[in-house]
Order: sequence, then structure tokens, then C-alpha cells
Amino acid sequence: MKSEPSILFLHAHPDDECILTGATLAKASALGLRTIVVYGSRGDAGETNAELAGESLGDRRQREANAACAALGVSRVEWLPYLDSGMHGTSTTEHPEAFANASLGSATRQLSAMLDGETIAAVVGYDSNGTYGHPDHTQVHRLAHYAGPALGADWVLDATYSREYLASLPGSDGTLDPAFASAEADLTHFVAGDEWVDAKLAAVSHHLSQIPDDWDTEKPDTEGFRARFGTEWYIAKPLSGSNGLGLLEALLEPKSNFPVQRA
Ligand SMILES: [Zn+2]
Repeated sequence: MKSEPSILFLHAHPDDECILTGATLAKASALGLRTIVVYGSRGDAGETNAELAGESLGDRRQREANAACAALGVSRVEWLPYLDSGMHGTSTTEHPEAFANASLGSATRQLSAMLDGETIAAVVGYDSNGTYGHPDHTQVHRLAHYAGPALGADWVLDATYSREYLASLPGSDGTLDPAFASAEADLTHFVAGDEWVDAKLAAVSHHLSQIPDDWDTEKPDTEGFRARFGTEWYIAKPLSGSNGLGLLEALLEPKSNFPVQRA
């Protein structure tokens, strides 16, 4: 008997699951859809303002991610055994065990072994820019597209944001950088933030080690967060033989449903 179909979310680091797909995960859970989050690394090369009290940053971020995924109703959480590659130009990117340096074949074999017995209906990764160019994020893009067919998925989705929309927000200089996020014309589906952004914010709050200096935890700028991160966009690509959105039908809305004025 085949197992209940799942949507696999590949993420580079703890907190990416919230920032890029938190609304989608919360909505999937509310719809009763089974979701699996697999991280490429534990975010051990990240920065933190937190007092770690002897705990490693990787251990701390792993705990935070497990709590955030529980809050979002994720069905299963797994970790690939790679190191955080860190940003371009840092020594961590050269490490042979860094996630960005993993061979796609080897990472796919590990995913297949880890997910043996699961039925993977769709694989969610990132856009070809990895949204903002982090080497682990572009690796998620490559791995999702490489592993999708091997895992028997019907769809591969790039989680992303609209470049034009973000450039139009207050505080942006309006510059459209082709190496950042995705062109609006390439987007195909979305999850509306309106209903799910509160769940997304609540889940983000588990990532205490990653709170930026300019985020006021007493009076959080929830409207700014909603405007920037509320709606989650996707570029959906069917794999051969796919017919219709299947499991994703109730989860994703086609771009044509997106009212232009609903920022
Ligand atoms: Zn990341």
C-alpha cells in the first residue's frame, strides 16, 4: 500500500522554512496535508546576538527550527548532514562538507534513503537565485530540480518573492536586480498571506537566535512583515506525465487570482 502523499519542502537553514514558506506550511496543515521539511544544514555558519551559554549555534538553531515546524504543523522534520556554507567570500564556503559543495547525486541518494516509504507528490525548493544568492539557497534550487524526478514527484516548485513587488515597497530604492528573487512574469502560483501571516509570525518567533537588531520584539512591525513576507509566491513546474495540480490544488492559487491592488 502506498503511503499518504506528502509535500517535501527543502530548506537551506533554520528559519528559511518560516520566511519563505511559513504561510504555505500553516495552510497545508490546516488543510490536513502531510508535509515534510528537510534542511540542508543547521545554519551553523550564521550570526547571532543570542547568549548561547555553551550550546553550539547549530544545536540552538536546530532546536528553534524543530519548535517552529511544530508550530506550523509540519508532519516530519529531517536534517541532511551538511555544514552551513556561509555567505560568498567566507572560509566556510570552501569546506568540503558544506551543503553547497555536496554533489547532487549524493544528496539525492541521502534524500531517497531518508524518505524511503514516503510518497512525495511535490518538492518545494527555491528560485534559481536562491532568492538572494546565498550558496546554500542556490543549492536548494538545484537539488529540488535534480531530486524531484528521483523521488517520483509530480511537481517541483520554486518558492520565491516578486522582485517588482519588493522593489515597490517603502524603503526600497526601486532597483530591479536580476540576481534577486524572481520576475513577476515568471511566477505561477501563490499562497495569500492574509489568513496565514499570523501563524507565520508566531513560528518565526521561535527563531530567537536570529532576531535582527532592528526588530522590536516588544512592538513588532507586523504590518511591515505582512507587506514584505505575507504572500508566498511559487514557480510551479510539472514533471513529465503530471496532470493537474493534484495535492497542491487546494493549497495554491493561480497567479490570475491575485488582485493587483492586494499588496
Ligand atoms: Zn537560509
